[in-house]
Amino acid sequence: MQVSVFEPILGQRLVLNPDLLVLSSAVVPAEGSRDLAELLKFSCTLEGFFLEAHVKLRPVDFPAEGIFLCGAAHYPKFIDETIAQAQAAAARATTILSKDVLQVGGVVAVVDEEKCTGCLTCVRICPYDVPRINPTRVGAGAILGVAEIEAAACQGCGICPAECPAKAIQLQHYRDEQVLAKEEALFELLAA
Ligand code: SF4
Ligand code: SF4
Repeated sequence: MQVSVFEPILGQRLVLNPDLLVLSSAVVPAEGSRDLAELLKFSCTLEGFFLEAHVKLRPVDFPAEGIFLCGAAHYPKFIDETIAQAQAAAARATTILSKDVLQVGGVVAVVDEEKCTGCLTCVRICPYDVPRINPTRVGAGAILGVAEIEAAACQGCGICPAECPAKAIQLQHYRDEQVLAKEEALFELLAA
């Protein structure tokens, strides 16, 4: 048996005479992985493998809470690494499943109905697809339709409070007056 290969570093073709030839087929992302990523708000690599929330701090988590990652959906890997990652994902899931009641963080976006114009900016921009328009509520200028944000689903990313054109959304614990008060205190400290 002879194998002829082009060696790019040497820049020439080599002819090998191996005793054994083992071929490995390519590992590619599953069909529809991009659609799933879009649906569940994951990030993907250019090839279509899923990306974890943080490579060191949250290696088996997705950005959305309660969904975990392991195996070849992440990237092509050997079975021992896959098993270790699956155990980590199962352990992370257990931290949720073992509780009777889940508590969410207090940093969530809150809508002031009296200022909301129902412009849909927050609905379109939220990376977690949380804000909804409640067509039965009346907002600013007696406009029918007001944004609602489910506190349990909000990830507190701060995007919609920054983008709302009517300034109708505030992030709990990071309200404008709180941030301004911190800035003023900082500048007073620096000036002293
Ligand atoms: S972006 Fe602001 S004004 Fe527009 S729908 Fe959302 S809360 Fe209402
Ligand atoms: S703070 Fe972030 S996660 Fe929460 S509703 Fe606004 S954009 Fe969505």
